[in-house]
Amino acid sequence: MAGSREAGVRELDRATVERIAAGEVITRPARVVAELVENALDAGAERIDVEVDGDGTDRIRVADDGCGMNREDAALAVEPHTTSKIRDAGDLAAADTLGFRGEALASVADAGTLELTTNADDDEIGTRVRVADGETAVADAGRARGTTVEVTELFADRPARRESLASPAREFGRVSELLADYALARPDVAFSLTHDGRETLRTPGTGTTDALVAIYDRETAGHATAFDHRADLETGAGSEPMVGWELRAEGALVAPAVTRSTRDHVHLAVNGRPVANEALRRAVASGYGTLVPSGREPVAVVRLSLPAETVDANVHPAKERVALRDGNTVADAVETGVRDALTTADLRRSGEVAMDLDSSLAPVEGAESDFADATVIGQFRDLYVLCEADDDLVVIDQHAAHERVNFERLRAALADEAVPSADLDPAATVSLDPGAAAGVEEHADALRDLGFAFEPFGGNTYRVAAVPAPLGRVADADALGETAASLARGEADPREAALADLACHPSLKAGDALDRETATRLVERLGECEQPYACPHGRPTTLTVEEATLASGFERPTRR
Ligand code: ADP
Ligand code: MG
Repeated sequence: MAGSREAGVRELDRATVERIAAGEVITRPARVVAELVENALDAGAERIDVEVDGDGTDRIRVADDGCGMNREDAALAVEPHTTSKIRDAGDLAAADTLGFRGEALASVADAGTLELTTNADDDEIGTRVRVADGETAVADAGRARGTTVEVTELFADRPARRESLASPAREFGRVSELLADYALARPDVAFSLTHDGRETLRTPGTGTTDALVAIYDRETAGHATAFDHRADLETGAGSEPMVGWELRAEGALVAPAVTRSTRDHVHLAVNGRPVANEALRRAVASGYGTLVPSGREPVAVVRLSLPAETVDANVHPAKERVALRDGNTVADAVETGVRDALTTADLRRSGEVAMDLDSSLAPVEGAESDFADATVIGQFRDLYVLCEADDDLVVIDQHAAHERVNFERLRAALADEAVPSADLDPAATVSLDPGAAAGVEEHADALRDLGFAFEPFGGNTYRVAAVPAPLGRVADADALGETAASLARGEADPREAALADLACHPSLKAGDALDRETATRLVERLGECEQPYACPHGRPTTLTVEEATLASGFERPTRR
């Protein structure tokens, strides 16, 4: 913490050192990165730039804009068991910093060559501390406030360590996953990662959604719902008095359209530190319940804040695992928080379930269907519904048909009204191609009438604060670009064009298996549309194969 700098770096006493989980901290390059990133976060950094060459043994460099160190502290910081974060064993339990053992810099310096350049005050000259082959040299250095640590020749004199490393791609992969975890644990901090001179990750430090865009993609981030859950918990066992405390679980839950096949997309953090904790991961997955199909895993960011006394980070030398007092109570609270968040109206609106099949295929009173006499006889490639109608075979494109049904429902519901809009919180950032960006500029007023609220955010990037939400169905932020593009193409009625795009989003996709009953309802609703034979974008919804065509193909006489 920035504040703890004032106390300065000092050496811990023996008794405290002995209480600290022992073990080799620096086992691979990713551990160096983790320790340096944690130091930068403890220093209150707002941006942290990480560079890695090769597998990391060649060079690792971590630069931050945190509080920096004065010369005296910098020279002491590289010595074993020196820290500014705790004074003695009594402080261990309540340490609210990521570091507290005072051994990371010394261990790194021991495993390689370490050069630390730092400055605590822009008006003063900075300090360079270089530790190589056990020798420490201190010199003047020019540097703005903050700290840069560069580690070279890691494990140069430890052949066994070197041997145990995986391929450069795998070792860098670990660094990359680790940095993604920190970026999601601390979305308020801007992170960048550069490998062999090429930037591979950059988060802007503007919140979870933007971090998800950088780490995953726009689609994943677009399906994320922010959540913030608080629970009053009580702990105390046996004769201990019960103590009440507050648990806060917040972050983003991606649902329900985006899932993954592996379990490592539940990003957990406890008090700002990414952690692996199987019980908590399971709690998050249980909270999703059936929103995630079996065999699939959710993408989620869950950050817990709990009193430092209830967390023991000191169980693992690298602090990758933490012990939670009352782990079960915490896990239950997390599961409830996730479940509640996923069942609120908000998610149903931003997920792909609102204009679901059930509501969009509900019968329309008194309507007459063009396909009243059609009987569904099957589905082909989960894409086409096959029907028998009179003497013909009617093939219906289920996606196009559902778009048409949704489109006419939207149009009817919004006949004389402004399109309702929904605020995006937090606002989404979208970057558009130049054509779409030009469309946004040109048709800004029309887009605002359609329910978008947005502002330029530099270049072709826009910050989208509200989107159209017809029938309680919230458009993706990306709809801004799509709608602007259709306006730019000069589609006859911009409003219709926008509704057509919105109707498309929740529609059945190719590959959705339909049961017979659902397919029947789809065909009935399509038949009731004003224009059942084309989707809102003008593509056909149905093809009719006359019996005569089949008969002639099979060289049969036509039934008459
Ligand atoms: P610990 O983090 O457990 O205290 P370290 O060996 O990692 O131990 O760091 C020793 C001390 O050096 C820290 O307590 C802190 O005062 C100082 N320090 C290390 N890295 C930074 C940094 N990036 N910015 C400011 N101070 C730092
Ligand atoms: Mg540290």
